[in-house]
Amino acid sequence: KKKMLSAITSSGAMTLGNYLGAVKRMVNFQEQYEMHVFIANLHAITVPQDKEVLRKNIKEIAALYFACGMDPNKSVIFLQSDVLEHAQLGWILNTQSTIGELSRMTQYKDKSQKAEESGKGYIPAGLFTYPTLMAADILLYDAEFVPVGVDQKQHVELTRDLAMRMNNRYGEMFVVPECLVTENKLKIMDLQDPTKKMSKSSDNPKAIIKMLDSPADIRSKIKAAVTDSENLIKHDPINKPGVTNLIEIYTTLKNVSLQEAMVRWKGKNYKDLKDDVIEVLLEVIEPIQTRYKELYNSLEVEQWLEQGAAKARMIANKKINKVQNLMGLNYKR
Ligand code: ATP
Ligand code: MG
Repeated sequence: KKKMLSAITSSGAMTLGNYLGAVKRMVNFQEQYEMHVFIANLHAITVPQDKEVLRKNIKEIAALYFACGMDPNKSVIFLQSDVLEHAQLGWILNTQSTIGELSRMTQYKDKSQKAEESGKGYIPAGLFTYPTLMAADILLYDAEFVPVGVDQKQHVELTRDLAMRMNNRYGEMFVVPECLVTENKLKIMDLQDPTKKMSKSSDNPKAIIKMLDSPADIRSKIKAAVTDSENLIKHDPINKPGVTNLIEIYTTLKNVSLQEAMVRWKGKNYKDLKDDVIEVLLEVIEPIQTRYKELYNSLEVEQWLEQGAAKARMIANKKINKVQNLMGLNYKR
C-alpha cells in the first residue's frame, strides 16, 4: 500500500473547509492507502493560544476525526506532540532551509500580516518556520502523497525541495512526496468575504461553518452568506464568488456534478440555492455530530490516540536515526 499523510491544526474548531478539503478525503483514502493522520498541535502554537481553548480544540478534533469515519485499525491516527521526532526533524530541516525560501511562503505573509494587525505586536518565529515542521511531519513517514487543500500546495512543494536537497547532500534518506490537491482544486470560501478562504482561525464566526455548529446556526449562517444582487445562479468564481462557493459546497457534499446541479436550479433563485445548501449540510453534519457526542469524553478516543502514537513513534524513530547517521550527528555507526 502507498503511504499518505494529512493533518488538521488544532488552532480552532474544525470547519466545513477542513472537512471537504481534507477529512472527507482522508476517510475515503484509508481503504486504498496506508494513512497517517494527526492533530497538529505543535503547528497550532505558531499563533498565540489560550491553554484551555487549545486543550478543548485538540479533544474536539480528535473525536471528530473518528466521528467522520477515520478508523484506528486502518490508519495511524495520533497527536503530533506525542511523537518527539517531529520537533527533532523540524529543527534539522530549519538548518537546511533558507530565510529566502521561507519568506516566499504566502501563508506566512498572510498570517504574519494578520498577527501584526491584531495589535498583539509580534510575529512568532514559529510562524516563519512552520513549513519546515510541516516538511518534517511528511518526511518522517515516507509519505508519497499528501492530500491537502490548494492553500497548502506551496508548503508541499517546499517539502519536495527539502527532501531532494537532503538526499543530494547526505545520501538517500527521504521519499519525495507528491501533493494531491482535489481534482477540482476545491477551496471553500469565507461566507462573508468569498474572496478569502474559509479558515478556522477566522475571527468572524458568521463567516465559517463549523462541523459542530447547531442546525439553527447553520441555517442562519447560510441565509446570511454574501451573494450578489443579480439573483442568477451561475458558476463564475471571478464575478460571482459568493454564489459559486455555495454551488461548490452543494455539489461536493451531494457528490453531484455541476451540470446535474444546474439542471436542478434552472429558473430558481438564491433562496432556493441556499435552502438546498442548508438541507444537504444538515444531512451530512447531523449524523457526524451524533457520533461525536458518543465519542467525546470517551476513553476509546484516548486509547486510539495512544495506539496511533505508539505506531507512529516506531516509524519516526527509525527515520530520525537514519537522518542523524547520514548527517554525521551520531558518533557511533
Ligand atoms: P488555520 O486558519 O488555523 O490555518 P485552516 O482552516 O486553514 O486553519 P488547517 O489546519 O491549516 O486549517 O488545514 C487543514 C486542512 O484543511 C489542510 O489540508 C487544508 O488544505 C484544508 N483546508 C483548510 N481550509 C480549507 C478550505 N477553505 N477549503 C478547502 N480545504 C481547506
Ligand atoms: Mg491553514
